[in-house]
Amino acid sequence: MPVEPMVFPAQSRLLPYAALFSLTFALTIGGILARPIESLSLFWPVNAALAGVLLRYPRQATVSGFVLMWLAMVGADLLCASALAPALWFNLCNMGVVVTLWQLLSRLPRLHRRMRTPHGVLCVFGACAAGASVAASLASVMAAPWFEQSLRSTWLAWFSEQFSTAVLVLPVMLTAPAARTLLQGGSQKIRLAPLLVMLVSLAFSIAFGGPGAIAFPIAALLWCAWTYSPFLVSLLTLTAGSTLIVAVAQSLMHFSVPQSESGVTALMSARLGIAMLVLGPLVVACVTQANRSLLARLAHQATTDHLTGTLSRSAFTQRANALLESRQHQQFLPLTLMMLDIDHFKSINDAHGHAVGDQVLRQFADALQEQLHSNEVFARMGGEEFVIIVPGLAPDRAQFTAERLRRAVQDLQVEQAGQRLQITVSIGLAGCDEGMPTPDLTALLASADKALYLAKAKGRNRVEQAEPQRRAI
Ligand code: GH3
Ligand code: MG
Ligand code: MG
Repeated sequence: MPVEPMVFPAQSRLLPYAALFSLTFALTIGGILARPIESLSLFWPVNAALAGVLLRYPRQATVSGFVLMWLAMVGADLLCASALAPALWFNLCNMGVVVTLWQLLSRLPRLHRRMRTPHGVLCVFGACAAGASVAASLASVMAAPWFEQSLRSTWLAWFSEQFSTAVLVLPVMLTAPAARTLLQGGSQKIRLAPLLVMLVSLAFSIAFGGPGAIAFPIAALLWCAWTYSPFLVSLLTLTAGSTLIVAVAQSLMHFSVPQSESGVTALMSARLGIAMLVLGPLVVACVTQANRSLLARLAHQATTDHLTGTLSRSAFTQRANALLESRQHQQFLPLTLMMLDIDHFKSINDAHGHAVGDQVLRQFADALQEQLHSNEVFARMGGEEFVIIVPGLAPDRAQFTAERLRRAVQDLQVEQAGQRLQITVSIGLAGCDEGMPTPDLTALLASADKALYLAKAKGRNRVEQAEPQRRAI
């Protein structure tokens, strides 16, 4: 039956825009509250945060979306007693940052855009510098009537403020995991030492003071960078950077530059210094994360059979040897090794093709996996031969388990072009009873192979055990 296309009510299409408007409005109010009278805000996260939202949820990056954000900023400004003309112009400068960040970063491949590569981190920094330059240029040209400073000072004030805020806020938005992943990862343990050292060095920066003090947290931030995820590191660079900016602005760090004609103030210099300071830890965090993912992928590939998803032969050898060794410490518990081989598999390949043969192998492995417990080791040895180790069961008792597996395979229905293929499996068992000395893996495999040969010779689709004296030797 054809599925009816889902029609969304008009309200649900408006909802994301309403959310964008509210978010912009709330963040703008927050930024205005952090703005000393007659000066730029200490911390203006709105622009970078909105660019981050659009880069994560690009559907709202439309002309109407951008206009809506501008109107929300102007509305919030007017509510906080700004005059109409400056509210319109200043927020146009703010939108200059949002549009530039969007234009430059939305074109990047996802991996770079989400800061998963050092190249991506540098691109984000470059885009933040470009966005801040656009806002500073617009502000110096258009908003000059409302500033009493020189054009140069206005440009520098806007640039340093927008650049530092963007490099602190945007990485948090771009590296944030999806809400689902965040909830799933709730039980992970976090090492606290790097975080505590970072907080102590931040406090020490403020207590010690002077221009060099803004670099004090760098060592701890680097430690955090190879310990935590890029998202957590972004949160920490945001915390450290914004704390230092506020400390300098409030003259807590006795940080001053001689007044000169250049119009450079201590706050501008500190802002730019702090922005550059966070680059190192962010690059280290993303390189570390990329290495970890690569190692995890390689480890998965090395230990997993690519067709069936069971353990590979080499991973099996490692796991089986570890299991046999652990038996020495567990009162020589019983153990069984099963060797399984699909019957007349070649004729399936010959009659239906190799692709169908592969599908049969996958379904065979899935059907067995469903029957097994988590402590049982299941691997593909090659072709249509598999092996299972059942710890805790001697071969006599494992005979019942093997019969259950044999029946599960017999009942398996593989659909192929309207036809149903049926397969059967032969199983050979070897192992050791409780208290028996631990056998060698090669000898155990050879014994099970002999039992499998017996099962084939006796007509297939059956389970056979190695003769007791040959079970494990
Ligand atoms: P028996 O009952 O004696 O085990 O007979 P059989 O046909 O199953 O045994 P044989 O060893 O003669 O054939 C195994 C076949 O498995 C031969 C080979 O082409 C096929 N094979 C091995 N690896 C794969 C694979 O990855 N995919 C597919 N489709 N076939 C494979
Ligand atoms: Mg075979
Ligand atoms: Mg076979």
